[in-house]
Amino acid sequence: PPVSSSAAPSTAQSEALFERARKVTPGGVNSPVRAFRSVGGVPRFMASADGAYLTDADGTRYIDHIGSWGPMILGHNHPAIREAIVAAAQDGTSFGAPGWREVELAELVCQVTGAQKVRFVNSGTEATMSALRLARGFTGRKYTLKFRGNYHGHADALLVEAGSGLMTNAAELGAAAPSSAGVPDEYARLTLVSEYNDAGALDALMAERGHEIAAVIFEPVVGNAGVLLPTPAFLLALHRVREHGTLLIADEVMTGFRLSPSGATGRLGLTPDLSCWGKIIGGGLPVGAYGGRAEIMDYVSPEGPVYQAGTLSGNPLAMSAGLATLRALQADPGLYERLDTYTARLAEGLREAAQEAGVTVCINVIGSMLTVFFQAGPVKNYTEAARSDTAAFAVWFQGLLKRGVYWAPSQYESIFISGAHGETELQATLAAARDAFGEVRA
Ligand code: PLP
Repeated sequence: PPVSSSAAPSTAQSEALFERARKVTPGGVNSPVRAFRSVGGVPRFMASADGAYLTDADGTRYIDHIGSWGPMILGHNHPAIREAIVAAAQDGTSFGAPGWREVELAELVCQVTGAQKVRFVNSGTEATMSALRLARGFTGRKYTLKFRGNYHGHADALLVEAGSGLMTNAAELGAAAPSSAGVPDEYARLTLVSEYNDAGALDALMAERGHEIAAVIFEPVVGNAGVLLPTPAFLLALHRVREHGTLLIADEVMTGFRLSPSGATGRLGLTPDLSCWGKIIGGGLPVGAYGGRAEIMDYVSPEGPVYQAGTLSGNPLAMSAGLATLRALQADPGLYERLDTYTARLAEGLREAAQEAGVTVCINVIGSMLTVFFQAGPVKNYTEAARSDTAAFAVWFQGLLKRGVYWAPSQYESIFISGAHGETELQATLAAARDAFGEVRA
């Protein structure tokens, strides 16, 4: 069971591993937000994961609210996925030639999402990067447009006003505009930026420059500035970008197969020209994909002139994990409703707990994604998200952690609920949250 007292469990093993890691890896981690920089303390090094739980190197068990940042919608170590991976491994781990699993996964993805063709890659970053190249190749235009605080992976031209990890980083460095060193201005200049949920600004920018914009890429529901929900007016403005011959690219890396079988766009009734997937599509192994209308996808090599390739793309182990995940989702049509109900109850319980403790929060929630912003809100865009009290969030985060609840270690992230979260986890999380809000107030 999760730790219920507020006495902090030992972190000796995590500290020792972190010490070693820092000597051989920048910041001791292989992805920045794992380093706990914005919340302080030693990052927990995980030893195993099962269902709704993570166990760290010191043997402390946590109720996990990250789900590996999205992929583990069925919970960790799901038997069907584990068995599929083991069975695939027995057939060999990589062929460098096509195999049946990638055909089956492509068929399934097309059937569920409505895409006519898909191409598998190895991460969400590769998916968005490739989709943008494709949009440029298809339209013959140079510029792309993204929204402030939306994150589309770490390709050069997309590291412009790019959300969570960079918001966390920028707050630390005291920088005004989050971006990255090493991205030449010339690349960044090809990416135009507009405010999320500002239909007027998008219409105006498109009226002026639409003829030179290959694609508008967007998170249909934002997870990377914390959760932001699109307004109906903004969704209509997104639809209108096509009037300029501009392609609409939905980045569903986080939301795909999570907010509904057909992602956030399916849930919101939006039909993009291209979509990008990652996370759930690989069932916890490294997979990304992009896809959409055949007439566009046929521009991709070897069919068309837009080059894109990958030594391990369509890897049989990764495909087997994705297939097992999507099949398990298909076999349990009630899952999305259960996830929605759990997360709505979590949001309600957190609101009550914060109110009782006299802590001001604004909770944005949709489906199984949720962010507790430490501010009054409403929070509809990056600028509003950035007004949150990150110091208060850090106290709350540490209060949860020492009580056995593992939350996303940044104010500007979504949490992800899985099908393995049940009544026990809900009540234990709310009990810990109540006490942790008390510490924020103290
Ligand atoms: N797009 C979105 C919306 C994401 O949330 C992420 C990662 O969190 C990415 C792209 C990049 O995916 P990856 O980390 O697999 O490269």
